[in-house]
Amino acid sequence: MSDASQHTDFDVIVVGGGVAGIYAAHILKNKLGKNVLGIERGDGLGGTWYWNRYPGVQADTDGIVYRYSFDKETSSEWDPEARYQRGAQIRNYLTEVAARHGVDEVYRFGRAAVEARYDDAAATWRVEVEGGEAFTARYLVSAAGVFARPVFPDIPGFDDFAGEIVHSARWPEGTVLDDKKVGVVGTGSTGGQLIVAAAKVADSLTVFQRTPQYVVPAGQSRLDAAEVQEYLENFDANWAAWRATRLACGFDEPEVGAMDVTPAEREAVFERAWERGGGFEFMFGTFADLAFNRESNDAAAEFIKGKIRSIVKDPDVAERLIPSEPYAKRPASVDGYYETFNNDNVELVDVKANPIARIVPQGVELADGTVKELDTLVFATGFEAIEGAYRHFEVAGREGTRLLDQWGDAPSSYLGIATPKFPNFFTLLGPQGVFSNLPPGIEAQMDFVADLITWSDEHDEPVEVSQQVLAQWQEMCNEIANASIFSEVKSWIFGSNVHTDKPRPLFYFGGLAAFREVLDGERAKEFESFRTAS
Ligand code: NAP
Repeated sequence: MSDASQHTDFDVIVVGGGVAGIYAAHILKNKLGKNVLGIERGDGLGGTWYWNRYPGVQADTDGIVYRYSFDKETSSEWDPEARYQRGAQIRNYLTEVAARHGVDEVYRFGRAAVEARYDDAAATWRVEVEGGEAFTARYLVSAAGVFARPVFPDIPGFDDFAGEIVHSARWPEGTVLDDKKVGVVGTGSTGGQLIVAAAKVADSLTVFQRTPQYVVPAGQSRLDAAEVQEYLENFDANWAAWRATRLACGFDEPEVGAMDVTPAEREAVFERAWERGGGFEFMFGTFADLAFNRESNDAAAEFIKGKIRSIVKDPDVAERLIPSEPYAKRPASVDGYYETFNNDNVELVDVKANPIARIVPQGVELADGTVKELDTLVFATGFEAIEGAYRHFEVAGREGTRLLDQWGDAPSSYLGIATPKFPNFFTLLGPQGVFSNLPPGIEAQMDFVADLITWSDEHDEPVEVSQQVLAQWQEMCNEIANASIFSEVKSWIFGSNVHTDKPRPLFYFGGLAAFREVLDGERAKEFESFRTAS
């Protein structure tokens, strides 16, 4: 067809316009010179940052590393002086990067991809969007998102509520909490940010907490001019150094364990980290072994418990905020979290002791018959991570194999990228990809996918990982994850917030530096693991 807008056949289709999709479209279009179609169900770019607009939303990874390392120039929507960027700033930053590199032009917005099918005979992918329009391409890159599917709890009475019910990840434009009687269900990273923001403006705030979580201060602050200058002047060298660490979060990763120092030294290290703020920094920048050594983990947990007791004035409330499980979820950090429970307008309800029985017209009724009156009920109840993106986006590979069936109860993809029976199909942040600061993890994955595509083009051969290679990868990922204290706690990182009976490690915990070495090893072997067709 002559009209470009009528084209239905492309070299590559990218599904999703978040941090991963934008980078994928950029590399494919600008580095590989591909004819790319981007499909995004939102009306704009940003992905997770497009959808998550709840009060208080901001990054909890430092802004200097929560961005692309390929783009030094885009800074007008990125405030280099703020340690953490707010949600809207990140959304604007991503939109600006995309515009600067002509990536926005390849996207079609407002309709979700609902199905992708591999045509064995033609060796192409056919992708259908809502409304029935379909497109074809030789390659399909799915950047459909880690947090694409919000979950609501199974509580009776949703339709009976006279007020407004919202999920944090689908915040309706215009919904404000000012002067309202607000209820928040969920105390994860999202709930923590929301609770602090809501308490400042709401008439009353009722927090429905099931499992208390360890929260350290975020330490929002301004970088001074010299720090910003150093960062920009040494941009590439800084990034090279951060990529060579486990998490690429921008802080030094210690090699010493918490039990290798005296109790006084340990306390001082924790105290400094508490004062500076940052969840990842507290968990991974204090000592090397909080996630793997029980005694070290206990020491960190005890330190935080002591802080909760000293900050929260009502001892009964403090005890309810103190976790009984190890310090082993994706670390949360929120400024003023525990202080908020000293506010007169904030009430903490322990729903393990007194569960939510039902939603009633005037609010929430608890098992003991108490009714908490509410105008707005917010669910900050999290996501079905990774797999959730494919509940409404049916992907079928060779011989019609469904992606979710292929993943089954133990979802795994080689390097988080490739699944057997799915030729020329690449997931960014698929199951068992690298656990690290996300932008550099995404860049590592996508740079590798670009090299795979180039190899496939040059050899005119589809690329598909073998079952045997995946099995080895899965075994290694499971071994590392199961040796970590994270495996003892229910969380989305193991899918166990949704799939409660079947925990599944959804990440490779070996660190970004080691992950990149695996990628380089594959390059050196000319992608041997992907040449199942030859
Ligand atoms: P989450 O960590 O899964 O937390 C969900 C919360 O909802 C938990 O407290 C959970 O309690 C509670 N919950 C779920 N079902 C419930 C029920 N039926 N009754 C009562 N409580 C219930 O989800 P999230 O807070 O949205 O965070 C997910 C991830 O998003 C984070 O770990 C992080 O990676 C990312 N995130 C990042 C930022 C940032 O600052 N960059 C901000 C927000 C989120 P249980 O623990 O008992 O299940």
